[in-house]
Amino acid sequence: MTGAGPRDLTITLPAWVDEVVDWERRYAGDAERVGLAIALSRENVERRTGGPFGAAVFESVSGALVGVGVNCVERLGNAALHAEVVAIMFAQQRVGSFTLGGPGAPARELVSSCEPCAMCLGATLWSGVRRIVCGASRDDATRLNFEEGPVFPQSYRYLEERGVTVVRNILRDEARAVLEAYRVRGGKVYNA
Ligand SMILES: [Zn+2]
Repeated sequence: MTGAGPRDLTITLPAWVDEVVDWERRYAGDAERVGLAIALSRENVERRTGGPFGAAVFESVSGALVGVGVNCVERLGNAALHAEVVAIMFAQQRVGSFTLGGPGAPARELVSSCEPCAMCLGATLWSGVRRIVCGASRDDATRLNFEEGPVFPQSYRYLEERGVTVVRNILRDEARAVLEAYRVRGGKVYNA
Protein backbone atom coordinates (compact mmCIF):
# COMPACT_ATOMS: atom_id res chain seq x y z
CA MET A 1 0.00 0.00 0.00
CA THR A 2 1.28 3.43 -0.88
CA GLY A 3 0.72 6.55 1.18
CA ALA A 4 -2.11 8.90 0.33
CA GLY A 5 -1.51 12.51 -0.64
CA PRO A 6 -3.80 15.34 0.37
CA ARG A 7 -7.16 15.28 -1.42
CA ASP A 8 -8.59 18.61 -0.45
CA LEU A 9 -7.68 22.22 0.05
CA THR A 10 -9.59 25.06 1.62
CA ILE A 11 -10.13 28.54 0.22
CA THR A 12 -11.37 31.15 2.70
CA LEU A 13 -12.10 34.85 2.57
CA PRO A 14 -10.86 37.04 5.43
CA ALA A 15 -13.45 37.49 8.20
CA TRP A 16 -13.64 41.27 7.64
CA VAL A 17 -15.33 40.70 4.26
CA ASP A 18 -18.67 40.44 6.08
CA GLU A 19 -18.21 44.01 7.32
CA VAL A 20 -17.60 45.40 3.82
CA VAL A 21 -20.11 43.43 1.77
CA ASP A 22 -23.87 44.03 1.92
CA TRP A 23 -25.46 40.96 0.39
CA GLU A 24 -28.94 42.50 0.45
CA ARG A 25 -27.93 45.55 -1.56
CA ARG A 26 -28.60 45.92 -5.27
CA TYR A 27 -25.51 47.52 -6.78
CA ALA A 28 -26.81 49.81 -9.54
CA GLY A 29 -24.37 50.63 -12.30
CA ASP A 30 -20.67 50.22 -12.95
CA ALA A 31 -19.45 52.81 -10.45
CA GLU A 32 -21.24 51.21 -7.48
CA ARG A 33 -20.02 47.78 -8.51
CA VAL A 34 -16.41 48.79 -9.07
CA GLY A 35 -16.71 50.76 -5.83
CA LEU A 36 -17.27 47.50 -3.98
CA ALA A 37 -14.31 45.84 -5.71
CA ILE A 38 -12.11 48.79 -4.73
CA ALA A 39 -13.39 48.71 -1.13
CA LEU A 40 -12.41 45.03 -0.98
CA SER A 41 -8.96 45.79 -2.40
CA ARG A 42 -8.45 48.65 0.07
CA GLU A 43 -9.46 46.57 3.09
CA ASN A 44 -7.21 43.74 1.97
CA VAL A 45 -4.29 46.18 2.10
CA GLU A 46 -5.29 47.95 5.32
CA ARG A 47 -5.99 44.71 7.20
CA ARG A 48 -2.81 43.20 5.78
CA THR A 49 -4.57 40.12 4.46
CA GLY A 50 -3.15 40.23 0.94
CA GLY A 51 -2.38 42.07 -2.26
CA PRO A 52 -4.18 45.23 -3.41
CA PHE A 53 -6.87 43.61 -5.52
CA GLY A 54 -10.60 42.97 -5.09
CA ALA A 55 -13.32 41.60 -7.36
CA ALA A 56 -16.99 40.68 -7.39
CA VAL A 57 -19.54 38.94 -9.59
CA PHE A 58 -22.96 40.56 -10.08
CA GLU A 59 -26.15 39.82 -11.93
CA SER A 60 -25.95 42.43 -14.69
CA VAL A 61 -29.60 43.53 -14.70
CA SER A 62 -30.62 43.28 -11.05
CA GLY A 63 -27.26 44.28 -9.55
CA ALA A 64 -27.52 41.42 -7.08
CA LEU A 65 -24.21 40.27 -5.71
CA VAL A 66 -23.25 36.66 -6.52
CA GLY A 67 -19.69 36.34 -5.21
CA VAL A 68 -16.74 38.35 -3.96
CA GLY A 69 -12.99 37.83 -3.92
CA VAL A 70 -9.81 39.40 -2.68
CA ASN A 71 -6.24 38.51 -3.44
CA CYS A 72 -5.38 35.50 -1.24
CA VAL A 73 -2.02 34.53 -2.77
CA GLU A 74 0.21 35.11 0.25
CA ARG A 75 -2.31 34.36 3.00
CA LEU A 76 -3.19 30.95 1.55
CA GLY A 77 0.11 30.24 -0.18
CA ASN A 78 -1.53 29.76 -3.57
CA ALA A 79 -0.45 31.59 -6.73
CA ALA A 80 -3.81 31.00 -8.43
CA LEU A 81 -5.86 32.86 -5.84
CA HIS A 82 -6.10 36.25 -7.52
CA ALA A 83 -9.17 38.28 -6.57
CA GLU A 84 -10.98 37.59 -9.85
CA VAL A 85 -10.45 33.83 -9.66
CA VAL A 86 -11.60 33.78 -6.03
CA ALA A 87 -14.73 35.81 -6.89
CA ILE A 88 -15.55 33.50 -9.79
CA MET A 89 -15.08 30.38 -7.63
CA PHE A 90 -17.31 31.66 -4.83
CA ALA A 91 -19.94 32.80 -7.37
CA GLN A 92 -19.96 29.40 -9.03
CA GLN A 93 -20.28 27.72 -5.65
CA ARG A 94 -23.25 29.98 -4.88
CA VAL A 95 -25.08 29.24 -8.14
CA GLY A 96 -24.11 25.57 -7.95
CA SER A 97 -22.63 25.38 -11.44
CA PHE A 98 -19.31 25.51 -13.25
CA THR A 99 -20.73 28.27 -15.41
CA LEU A 100 -22.14 31.67 -14.57
CA GLY A 101 -23.82 31.70 -17.97
CA GLY A 102 -25.78 28.90 -19.53
CA PRO A 103 -29.39 28.54 -20.63
CA GLY A 104 -31.92 30.33 -18.44
CA ALA A 105 -29.30 31.95 -16.21
CA PRO A 106 -29.38 35.74 -15.73
CA ALA A 107 -26.45 37.51 -17.40
CA ARG A 108 -23.64 37.92 -14.90
CA GLU A 109 -20.52 40.05 -14.92
CA LEU A 110 -17.11 40.17 -13.28
CA VAL A 111 -16.05 43.46 -11.74
CA SER A 112 -12.42 43.95 -10.74
CA SER A 113 -10.47 46.72 -9.04
CA CYS A 114 -7.81 46.30 -11.76
CA GLU A 115 -7.57 44.93 -15.29
CA PRO A 116 -7.08 41.14 -15.14
CA CYS A 117 -3.78 39.33 -15.62
CA ALA A 118 -3.38 36.55 -18.18
CA MET A 119 -4.65 33.86 -15.79
CA CYS A 120 -7.69 35.84 -14.71
CA LEU A 121 -8.57 36.79 -18.27
CA GLY A 122 -8.53 33.08 -19.13
CA ALA A 123 -10.63 32.24 -16.06
CA THR A 124 -13.07 34.97 -17.08
CA LEU A 125 -13.51 33.43 -20.49
CA TRP A 126 -14.34 30.00 -19.01
CA SER A 127 -16.48 31.41 -16.18
CA GLY A 128 -19.54 32.20 -18.27
CA VAL A 129 -19.75 35.92 -17.41
CA ARG A 130 -20.86 38.22 -20.23
CA ARG A 131 -19.04 41.34 -19.17
CA ILE A 132 -15.84 42.47 -17.40
CA VAL A 133 -15.68 45.88 -15.72
CA CYS A 134 -12.31 47.18 -14.47
CA GLY A 135 -11.02 50.03 -12.32
CA ALA A 136 -7.26 50.52 -12.49
CA SER A 137 -5.47 49.78 -15.77
CA ARG A 138 -2.89 47.22 -16.65
CA ASP A 139 -0.34 50.06 -16.79
CA ASP A 140 -1.20 51.04 -13.22
CA ALA A 141 -0.46 47.50 -12.01
CA THR A 142 2.66 47.19 -14.14
CA ARG A 143 3.99 50.43 -12.70
CA LEU A 144 3.76 48.77 -9.28
CA ASN A 145 5.84 45.91 -10.75
CA PHE A 146 3.00 43.41 -10.76
CA GLU A 147 3.54 41.15 -13.74
CA GLU A 148 0.32 40.86 -15.76
CA GLY A 149 1.56 38.11 -18.06
CA PRO A 150 0.79 37.65 -21.74
CA VAL A 151 -2.28 39.85 -22.09
CA PHE A 152 -2.47 41.44 -25.54
CA PRO A 153 -5.03 43.52 -27.39
CA GLN A 154 -5.85 40.33 -29.29
CA SER A 155 -6.64 38.61 -25.97
CA TYR A 156 -9.43 41.10 -25.33
CA ARG A 157 -10.58 40.89 -28.94
CA TYR A 158 -10.83 37.13 -28.52
CA LEU A 159 -13.14 37.52 -25.54
CA GLU A 160 -15.22 40.20 -27.24
CA GLU A 161 -15.68 37.99 -30.29
CA ARG A 162 -17.14 35.41 -27.90
CA GLY A 163 -19.66 37.84 -26.50
CA VAL A 164 -17.80 39.19 -23.47
CA THR A 165 -18.02 42.98 -23.23
CA VAL A 166 -15.05 44.80 -21.67
CA VAL A 167 -15.42 48.10 -19.80
CA ARG A 168 -12.36 49.93 -18.46
CA ASN A 169 -11.28 52.86 -16.30
CA ILE A 170 -14.29 53.00 -13.95
CA LEU A 171 -13.18 54.92 -10.82
CA ARG A 172 -9.64 54.43 -12.07
CA ASP A 173 -8.07 57.08 -9.82
CA GLU A 174 -9.67 55.58 -6.71
CA ALA A 175 -8.53 52.08 -7.73
CA ARG A 176 -5.03 53.27 -8.51
CA ALA A 177 -4.80 54.97 -5.11
CA VAL A 178 -5.07 51.55 -3.44
CA LEU A 179 -2.21 50.21 -5.56
CA GLU A 180 -0.19 53.25 -4.58
CA ALA A 181 -1.03 52.80 -0.88
CA TYR A 182 0.21 49.21 -1.09
CA ARG A 183 3.46 50.37 -2.68
CA VAL A 184 4.00 53.08 -0.06
CA ARG A 185 3.40 50.53 2.68
CA GLY A 186 6.12 48.36 1.18
CA GLY A 187 3.69 45.55 0.38
CA LYS A 188 5.17 42.46 -1.17
CA VAL A 189 4.99 42.12 -4.95
CA TYR A 190 4.74 38.34 -4.91
CA ASN A 191 4.79 37.64 -8.63
CA ALA A 192 7.41 40.09 -9.84
ZN1 LIG B 1 -4.98 37.68 -12.02
